[in-house]
Amino acid sequence: MKKWTTSLIHPDARPQGGFESLVTPVFRGSTTLFPGAGDVTDDWRHEAGYSYGLYGTPTTRELGVRIAELEGGNHTFVVPGGQAAISLIALTFTSAGDHVLIPDSAYGPTRQLADDVLRRFGVEPEYYPPLAGAGIEAWMKPNTRLVWCESPGSVTMEVQDVPAIVEAAHRHGATVALDNTWSAGVYFDGFAHGVDVTMQALTKYVGGHSDLLLGSVTVRTAEAYERLGVVHDRLGLSVSPDDCYLALRGMQTLGVRLAALERSALHVARWLATRRAVARVLHPALPSCPGHETWRRDFTGSTSVFSIVFAEGTSRESVAVFVDALELFRVGFSWGGVHSLALPWFHLRRTHENPYGDRLVRLNVGLEDPEDLVADLGRALHRAGLGGPSSSHDAEQPSL
Ligand SMILES: *Cc1c(COP(=O)(O)O)cnc(C)c1O
Repeated sequence: MKKWTTSLIHPDARPQGGFESLVTPVFRGSTTLFPGAGDVTDDWRHEAGYSYGLYGTPTTRELGVRIAELEGGNHTFVVPGGQAAISLIALTFTSAGDHVLIPDSAYGPTRQLADDVLRRFGVEPEYYPPLAGAGIEAWMKPNTRLVWCESPGSVTMEVQDVPAIVEAAHRHGATVALDNTWSAGVYFDGFAHGVDVTMQALTKYVGGHSDLLLGSVTVRTAEAYERLGVVHDRLGLSVSPDDCYLALRGMQTLGVRLAALERSALHVARWLATRRAVARVLHPALPSCPGHETWRRDFTGSTSVFSIVFAEGTSRESVAVFVDALELFRVGFSWGGVHSLALPWFHLRRTHENPYGDRLVRLNVGLEDPEDLVADLGRALHRAGLGGPSSSHDAEQPSL
């Protein structure tokens, strides 16, 4: 007879099986059992099955195969956040002595990774104008191994000519990686446009509710899978099955959320374009956005994030008063959830010129009623002394 303390760990009691849920179970576990001594393996390849929780559980792997299916990739690695996805790609595709091209409009922490970490390991980052297109040729060096793309760019929203960049980079034997977070891996098909590796912050649209941090790296070829898989394994980038569960849950409503967010964001962006104080709306689906023509050619939709540029002469103080006067738009980083957010961008990092100065505010439109959002923006503009329609829109005087 086992002692009761042993039974706590090795019970004979078992509930009946047969529960078929619509929902992916949360498999928790560091140890995964092997059938026997002869079955022990530590092969990182996902086809080899499971060896240890750090390298994948059925919950984390299900999220991976679903993202691969969504993006049409060969394989997806799920990592602890979008920034971890960027790091994994950088550490896989660069070595000491290599040159890396990064668009000047890249997500801030992408540049900080390059400047603060990659440089230390002998990798030389260089920042190219995001609208370079085929002109990227002039930036290529014999040792350029990785060309990074992010389209549209963070905050300044330049839409890149990714196919032209791919063409030049591949001619020089460089790998092209794309931060495809803005399009949720849906509205821009990275692989159809020749990209080798895509990543997205699942934190944003796939999660969709501002309650988790996750990232994905998806590869186009079996060769990239082999290269990335080894580094992923060695870095020990484990993810929580609970977070993956939330991401799987979020994924089911991604279609309806994106459709609603696109409609609302366009409504708000078009209204802002009629305001006297707003010089420019940087929304990829509007002609006022740099690279709009490329967006029309290559994208199948738009999402919830865009920026506005206040007219020249608008003070930093007025911009701050405007943001603070907003009630429905809250102030904070990240986006893609159900809440609207506003963030003034007073510390934009750019190597080349930033023509917008302190007059840039990024907005994330959430799932609130778009008319309420417009009213909130209108009230805040008035409170900051920035109210009123532009002269070309005098006809549609708002009741604010
Ligand atoms: C948020 C974001 C990331 C980083 O994602 P985290 O999950 O917050 O680490 C990377 N790229 C872009 C474009 C982002 O907006």
